[in-house]
Amino acid sequence: MELTDKLEILADAAKYDASCASSGAPKRTSEGKDGFGATSGMGICHSYTPDGRCVSLLKILLTNFCVYDCQYCVNRRTSNVPRARFSVAEVVKLTTDFYLRNYIDGLFLSSGIIQSADYTMEQLVAIARELREVHQFRGYIHLKTIPDADPALIAAAGRYADRLSVNIELPTEAAVERLAPEKSVHTIKLAMGSIRRKLDEKAEEPRAPKFAPAGQSTQMIVGADASDDQTILSTAETLYGSYKLKRVYYSAFSPIPQSPGSVPLAPPPMQREHRLYQADFLLRSYGFQANELLPAAGNLALDIDPKLAWALAHREHFPLDLNMADESMISRVPGIGLRNARRLVELRRLRRIRYADLVRLRCSMKKIAPFIVAADYKPSQGAAASEVLRRSMAEQPRQLDLWTELQAA
Ligand code: SF4
Repeated sequence: MELTDKLEILADAAKYDASCASSGAPKRTSEGKDGFGATSGMGICHSYTPDGRCVSLLKILLTNFCVYDCQYCVNRRTSNVPRARFSVAEVVKLTTDFYLRNYIDGLFLSSGIIQSADYTMEQLVAIARELREVHQFRGYIHLKTIPDADPALIAAAGRYADRLSVNIELPTEAAVERLAPEKSVHTIKLAMGSIRRKLDEKAEEPRAPKFAPAGQSTQMIVGADASDDQTILSTAETLYGSYKLKRVYYSAFSPIPQSPGSVPLAPPPMQREHRLYQADFLLRSYGFQANELLPAAGNLALDIDPKLAWALAHREHFPLDLNMADESMISRVPGIGLRNARRLVELRRLRRIRYADLVRLRCSMKKIAPFIVAADYKPSQGAAASEVLRRSMAEQPRQLDLWTELQAA
């Protein structure tokens, strides 16, 4: 099989993995011209480095052959898809060729499991080692880690990769047992724990060998099982706390032709994945806890964002006097982000905050207005029922969601 045919199959097979954070970058195209800078080439995705740079990555699988039969996965053993496998040398060549042509800044490499977890991991490590040691490749490398692999191989992967990730796969142990019976949450967590220990050792001893400087991440599939968002967020919160993950990525389950009967026929609304990312950001950066965002079983609202939902459910904190409240509470006002909360606190050291200051900071006034008090402003809607406020601020359903609902009906 030609290398380009393999690339077509193995780049397509890799697209279901969301854990390289390819969202957020606008697409650029050189359509109709001989220009350069297109960002939608085969197998190329975008990711963000720890210092905030957006980088293009070659995102591929080493192979989509797999001895496992995870029910939600297009590459499972019983799936009827075209298969391909790169050699170590081919992945190294593709990466260096694309890099030297400035198509990419790095590599995101995952794989189905061939022969055994150790054998597969050895191949992934061999690629990273050859890139670093033979070709002196300085680009970004994200390696997907096979949880059952020998910890020595995972440690070796961390010497060459910037980031490692081990997929938790599903929100509960019961769901993993049912839909991915050859996998074990215990083993997945052992692998995450071994990466965390290595990261801690490196943090404590800066002269220790380099180990995955961009940390570790994971991915959870949403909507392949019946877990609700409360379960998903509390699993994410536990993972952040236990393994110091940089990110949990949420990937809406995507049914494929001839999916087994054990998984749903329709995908969850894309907006659900979006709301989970918003809630995750509130957990990581705003100090929210999962049980504040979803105190009872159920899913996040689709029509309003999780911060607004929390504020509407906690009107006892509002309207908040911006000239008195502490910064963390100001950042909980819908429409005020972390940066503007800090700016407001700095500003009020000089003078009292006025309504015009919020306009100048380009805060979303429609969202903020019912929730704040400023030196010259008190909300007229302060006493309005939360349901009335919610209706006035709800987002219109997006075309995509309507289409998804029609398909699911
Ligand atoms: S081990 Fe990975 S590639 Fe193989 S079936 Fe499971 S999820 Fe898919």
